[in-house]
Amino acid sequence: MATAVGRIVVVGASLAGWRVAESVRRNGFAGELVLIGEEPYEPYDRPPLSKTVLSGWIGTDKLALPHTPGLDARWVLGVAATGVDRAAGTVHLADGRAIGYDRLVIATGARARPWPVAAEAALGGVHLLRGREDADRLRADLLAAPRRVLVIGGGFTGSEVASSCLDMGIPVTLVQRGPAPLSGALGTAVGAALGARQRAHGLDLRVGTTVQALAGEGRLTGALLSDGTPLDAEVAVVALGSVRNTEWLSGAGLSADSGGVDCDTACRAITLDGTPAEEVYVIGDAARWRHPPFDAPPAAFEHWGNAIEQADTAAHNLTHGGALCHTLGLPQFWSDQFGMNIKSVGLPHIADRVMLAQGSCRRGPFVVVYGRDGVTVGAAAVDSPRVLDGYAALVADSAPFPPLIAANDSPATPLILDSGATPQDLSLEGVR
Ligand SMILES: Cc1cc2nc3c(=O)[nH]c(=O)nc-3n(C[C@H](O)[C@H](O)[C@H](O)COP(=O)(O)OP(=O)(O)OC[C@H]3O[C@@H](n4cnc5c(N)ncnc54)[C@H](O)[C@@H]3O)c2cc1C
Repeated sequence: MATAVGRIVVVGASLAGWRVAESVRRNGFAGELVLIGEEPYEPYDRPPLSKTVLSGWIGTDKLALPHTPGLDARWVLGVAATGVDRAAGTVHLADGRAIGYDRLVIATGARARPWPVAAEAALGGVHLLRGREDADRLRADLLAAPRRVLVIGGGFTGSEVASSCLDMGIPVTLVQRGPAPLSGALGTAVGAALGARQRAHGLDLRVGTTVQALAGEGRLTGALLSDGTPLDAEVAVVALGSVRNTEWLSGAGLSADSGGVDCDTACRAITLDGTPAEEVYVIGDAARWRHPPFDAPPAAFEHWGNAIEQADTAAHNLTHGGALCHTLGLPQFWSDQFGMNIKSVGLPHIADRVMLAQGSCRRGPFVVVYGRDGVTVGAAAVDSPRVLDGYAALVADSAPFPPLIAANDSPATPLILDSGATPQDLSLEGVR
């Protein structure tokens, strides 16, 4: 199955595509390497788009991922792949070309979920954020000093955008359907604690609220919220999560939908009969898979580190004979917002219980550990990224929950909450 020669075609020339190209060459692959990318740019880093790019610290032209000098690859940029003929071993492009492959790597990632009402989405001042051009357009609107920015959605991207706008001195209202920001990833209890910190930074945070309609003629002037409140805003950022770019695989005989392309831990794409395709790999945000230590449904892990690890796994399996290598590293994610660094490991979102392990949720650094059915499944650290490695070991070992933690800033009495506790249930006073 391994291929030392022949042609590897990578579709999607961003983080995962770049990394698999670098890795197969590092592993000694001597055949032809082709990268096909819809965007006209060489691979660049997306995390700064919602952070340092918006607040003006770095331009979008400075985000290129570092190339190995002389990486021997053919770049086909600015053109989308539109289909795959697996029987013929051919990828079809939007410009009519067809490129043959011996091995195919799918790395087409995800796009931002659009605002559902097309006429409202088309208003000037209404933005999505996924790529360089989105960030440039949004930054230009922010530089025009809008009186208020509306952020729709309180996940990581929405929260980071809100934070960047506040850094620029622009008032922000963030509307979140759920009971707390970041609750989808970190649970309601921790999300509520972080929401309190967001408010302390000046965010107008409206939880349990949705946007009913965006208003304006030509340009956005405001929005109507689900509680009946009208809101004046000249810029809106729609941060409603993402949709995996898999439509181009329709008819390819792979198990794929808007949630991702199914794959195994060796990154081999799963076919419609449930078996892995030996010649097709899928990596990064587009890949949906079941992480072995967790009893959780298959998921796409839209994290920088996952794209890197899966790319290295696929590269190994593309270039080595013998035993397959598997992606076994724990999911990890970081976010910088409201002056905080948030880092998580494992799967906090599947937890039923959360324990404050170190520090205080009210101020300063803190660490929480997540458990499900008596097993430690995740941890999150605010402003203490270095201690997370120790907690990662507990998650990797499926240690019993609650674990015994005796750091010098651990609470005297363990505070354990329902991970989905509503903000009303969560007494921040109790979280010292
Ligand atoms: C604003 C923002 C902030 C983020 N911040 C963080 C963070 O703080 N921490 C973290 O861990 N992760 C963060 N992420 C997530 C991280 O950037 C992604 O996990 C990573 O980019 C995934 O890489 P990928 O190559 O799989 O997909 P993508 O980066 O989505 O790249 C996919 C590429 O494929 C191209 N493509 C799509 N369809 C086709 C087609 N049919 N033919 C050819 N090309 C196609 C796309 O145009 C794109 O260039 C952030 C993401 C965004 C958008």
